[in-house]
Amino acid sequence: MNNNIKIDALTLSPYGVNTYIVGDDKEVMIIDMPACESDFSMLDKIIGGRKLARIVYTHGHFDHIQGADDARSHYKGVKQYIHEDDASMLTDASDNLTAYFGAPIVYQPIDEVFSNDGQTFDIGSINFTVMHTPGHSSGCVCYYTEGHVFTGDTLFYMGVGRTDLIHSNHRDIEVSIQKIFQLPNDTLFYPGHEKYATSPQGTSDGHLGKQRVSSINSNLLAGD
Ligand SMILES: [Zn+2]
Ligand SMILES: [Zn+2]
Repeated sequence: MNNNIKIDALTLSPYGVNTYIVGDDKEVMIIDMPACESDFSMLDKIIGGRKLARIVYTHGHFDHIQGADDARSHYKGVKQYIHEDDASMLTDASDNLTAYFGAPIVYQPIDEVFSNDGQTFDIGSINFTVMHTPGHSSGCVCYYTEGHVFTGDTLFYMGVGRTDLIHSNHRDIEVSIQKIFQLPNDTLFYPGHEKYATSPQGTSDGHLGKQRVSSINSNLLAGD
């Protein structure tokens, strides 16, 4: 069990993206980097004296990567990671959906890509597994460590991600949701929008076991 894990969350940007700061008392990573409007003070306060090892993305939709270039300037030398199937979203305004919102924006290319489902990496003493969970976009991933899973826009509280977008696939997300639900029932989950578990204690609502029935029976399709 990850007794050393520390998880903090901020909900940022007009799109209400949950960004997570996860690690131990020495090292952390940021999961998703929404717009911070050049104000990184809240993030800096949470990170404190710990080393920011990397910034990782659950997928490449603009609401989750809006702060990518600002973060590059603010956190110099910190590498950014995304699944290879969403890498083009940093540099292609159609792929990241901004072209459809009337204000095409592109960002600097990603530094590193995840290519293999199940590949692992360490943040301090915490080991994370990259679960490729396509459907909402083809390069969606979840980050799993024992007891906790960060699901991006694939799985929400009482719902799943929308699949009516470019690079979405409803059949794929069904398979991906089943894959997430194979994790232990008491796994706390942390979606890319809206309600999340209050970790490390968590709430019963935030346990994956509670989501199995509600998400599968729900027709909710929410989130960008
Ligand atoms: Zn989103
Ligand atoms: Zn999305």
